[in-house]
Amino acid sequence: MPRRWAKQIALLAAWIAAAALLGLWFGAPAWWLSAALALYVAHTLRHLYLLDRVLEGGKHVPPFATRGLWAEILARVDTLRTKSRNRKKKFHRVLKEIRESTGALRDGGVILNADNEIVWFNPAATWLLGLDPRTDIGRRIDNLIRYPEFVRYLAEPGGESITIPSPKVESGWIAVQLIPYGRNQRIAIVRNATREITLERTRRDFVANASHELRSPLTVISGYLDTLADDDDLPESWQVPITEMLRQADRMTQILRDLMELVRLESAESNAGHDFVDVCAMLDRMVREFDSASAEHPTLSLSFETDAALLGNESELHSIFFNLLHNAVRFTPASGSVEVVWRADGQGGELKVTDTGIGIPEEEIPRITERFYRVDPGRSRAKGGTGLGLAIVKHALQRHNGTLEISSVEGEGSAFRCLFAPQRLVFRGGRAEAAVS
Ligand code: ADP
Repeated sequence: MPRRWAKQIALLAAWIAAAALLGLWFGAPAWWLSAALALYVAHTLRHLYLLDRVLEGGKHVPPFATRGLWAEILARVDTLRTKSRNRKKKFHRVLKEIRESTGALRDGGVILNADNEIVWFNPAATWLLGLDPRTDIGRRIDNLIRYPEFVRYLAEPGGESITIPSPKVESGWIAVQLIPYGRNQRIAIVRNATREITLERTRRDFVANASHELRSPLTVISGYLDTLADDDDLPESWQVPITEMLRQADRMTQILRDLMELVRLESAESNAGHDFVDVCAMLDRMVREFDSASAEHPTLSLSFETDAALLGNESELHSIFFNLLHNAVRFTPASGSVEVVWRADGQGGELKVTDTGIGIPEEEIPRITERFYRVDPGRSRAKGGTGLGLAIVKHALQRHNGTLEISSVEGEGSAFRCLFAPQRLVFRGGRAEAAVS
């Protein structure tokens, strides 16, 4: 038992004993005892009253003109109250700072609960999303912003942000990213993406127009060069330059074709269609064509672990497979080998092109899908590359809900894996035989 309580009990015992002694001395001990207890109750009541005042938090707390246990209790309650008052002040200050800083943010922040109801948003969200703090707190965000892409993203948020038209500003764009935190809560970070999208569109339009404008004069030049090259009367000293000019004109035509293909893929608003594409037949044809195109090339092998077909755009899928196979053949010596495997199960489909070629340095791998990025520009050009093949592969795959994974060891070879989502696959029940060319 704490000392202060032992002391209090001892004091009470002494008080009762003194009353009993006085009662015995003067007579009527019951009266003396009753009077002593009544005084004790009055004393206790007074301190309870003081405690009540202290707890009530009135500004004028009575001075503690008291001693012993009650003084200690009252002092401790007062200390607790002061501490709690200071903590409250601190919270208010922090809250005010958070409010002011989120208010100053140019990006919008919207807190959503597990049911996608709006819990809180900052002022920037008001003008970016057109939300109204008086009416929209507690409403489901997908009832306020109904773009299908946004509703899909809410249901299945990926790591990346999505860009959608601004619900507030006409021809404006916003980028939204959902970040999960706490218990099933999410914060949506909203950014004005209008400038980015406008710049991107301008760039795309410029590339498309420039490629288109350059194509016609190039066709004329190539035509004349073709005629000259076929002319038997061409002086011998002209033959080498004309052949080289023809080669370069072909290269430019190829670059323009790839550029226009890339711009088309980038500007396509929606995903690729869902035409039935027989992957096995397409790969079989392609490998045979590569095999017969030149005498000097690495050994090509093709195997099917499934006869599944893909739902997509035939020419885009052809472009993906062709570019990967073309690269593998170009960057692998004739003594090496290139293996193409097509497999699929309920989890998805995979087309894998593995070669034993020159490989790619590890630090270059993340960059090789960029437009015109080449590990060795001289070697790529000499081998007829445009630097756009993998960028086309990446974009065409994205349009098929697919992804590209690259692994490589310099000097040993590379593996390019195209992964397709299960909804793009059609299983035909059979199991295709491995075909090797
Ligand atoms: P390019 O027309 O130059 O081949 P790509 O976009 O197809 O353009 O490829 C970009 C670069 O990636 C190539 O220049 C090459 O350096 C590297 N690369 C692509 N595929 C392979 C491969 N199978 N083996 C080694 N390097 C490769």
